Amino acid sequence: MSIQNNDVIIGLEVHIQLTNLKTKLFCSCSNDYRGKDPNTYVCPVCIGLPGSLPVINKKAINFATRLAIALNCEINKSMYFFRKNYFYPDMSKNFQISQYNKAGGKAFADGGKITIKLNSHKKDVILNRIHLEEDPARLVHKGSIATSPYTLVDYNRSGVTLIEIVTEPVMSSPEEAREFLKQLKSIVQYSGISRLDLEGSVRVDANISIKGHERSEVKNINSFKEVERALRHEIVRQKNLLKRGKDLIQETRHWDDKRRITISLRTKEFEADYRYFPEEDLVPIEIDNRFIQQVKDDLPEMPNERSLRLRREYDLSEFDSDNLVLDKDIADFYEEGVNSDASFGPNEYKQYCNWLMNDILRVLNEQNKTIKDTKLHPHQIVDIIRYINEGKITTKIAKTMIEDMLEGFSISEILEIKGKKRISDENFLIKLGNEVIEENPNIVKDCRVNPKAKEALIGKIMQKTKGQADPHIARNIILKILEKKGIID
Ligand SMILES: [Zn+2]
Repeated sequence: MSIQNNDVIIGLEVHIQLTNLKTKLFCSCSNDYRGKDPNTYVCPVCIGLPGSLPVINKKAINFATRLAIALNCEINKSMYFFRKNYFYPDMSKNFQISQYNKAGGKAFADGGKITIKLNSHKKDVILNRIHLEEDPARLVHKGSIATSPYTLVDYNRSGVTLIEIVTEPVMSSPEEAREFLKQLKSIVQYSGISRLDLEGSVRVDANISIKGHERSEVKNINSFKEVERALRHEIVRQKNLLKRGKDLIQETRHWDDKRRITISLRTKEFEADYRYFPEEDLVPIEIDNRFIQQVKDDLPEMPNERSLRLRREYDLSEFDSDNLVLDKDIADFYEEGVNSDASFGPNEYKQYCNWLMNDILRVLNEQNKTIKDTKLHPHQIVDIIRYINEGKITTKIAKTMIEDMLEGFSISEILEIKGKKRISDENFLIKLGNEVIEENPNIVKDCRVNPKAKEALIGKIMQKTKGQADPHIARNIILKILEKKGIID
């Protein structure tokens, strides 16, 4: 059954932790809770002790403004926070401080869009809003949430800043959702507000329905990669139910990433259950145009503009430049590399792109590393391209050097230590050729009747040099010696 029919409707709610903040949203506890002992990064505010008062983190407002600008949202100039009431162990004060765009409240920013490209089609994924809220505590289950005999609560995460990005229900396939998240991840990285490679820095809720039927909400998908999987599963599940003549019910489901299925958690609670009301302990937020302009001026070039510029400046294809800009670290690396050699032109720009995007990234993926985890320097790729283009090494040998390059060794060091340089010294190869012919009288004899036998002699030279002899020179030398000896014409 095809799951790309246009009767599928998908909307996403993406929660992103602003990991690049130093402190939590309403207190001065450190944001950097990962790997720390449970319940050690807490204070009266973030564990919600009576009488404690929250104070807004101004940098969080700055970061939200950056993202709003990057996503082309309309920023609300005056707003206040709301209490979202619910009773659950991950929120010790029984309400989450959030924003609410009803009952006189406003989101942080409305609208906005991300343009995605899929199978050479462009599509705008329209956003509904983005808003700020605090992260609840982390619940730790033994095994899966459904089978765990107990729950542990770690309040270190409680009060960390989340920004929620809510799309309109405009995506019609898991692939579109994947492309949307890919672009969003890139924009977040360029905005400098979060490191989405950190464990738990992103959580996605997905609303999925088949046109004309009730929707289900799949909660807490813990990585962008899992979203596409969860959507595929859920679409198949819903379609199978419809095929069997069953009705779909509006419900909240959980994505079990170990078993790779969604399971029903509860039938959907209605918004009124949350009893939203204004958070009177916090002053309203006022944002003026000057502040927005300042933030705008500090934002770097975004991936879309950068891709256009790379195409212009380095003569790259749309495909290459779009891929290159996706990860800011990779794109920065590329530009530093190609700009460090004034003799580089379009051929070398393309060569550099291929090296980086194919050969280097393949090894990084195998090692599960990012480029910043390695000691690779942009100039190493410049050197390797020079060595290849000057015929000093073969592409094949160059590719065997990548792992040493990632360790920070320069090309000349690797060639020296590993002796991987191509041997084209004729005198040295003539000496080897004479040795080979002396050592293999039977093969030499065979050369008189079998033209293929001389290949074996050339192979012996390659063996002696561990494959580094220049094969053309080795061949000419063997032929010359055999001719001289009158063995071949
Ligand atoms: Zn705190």
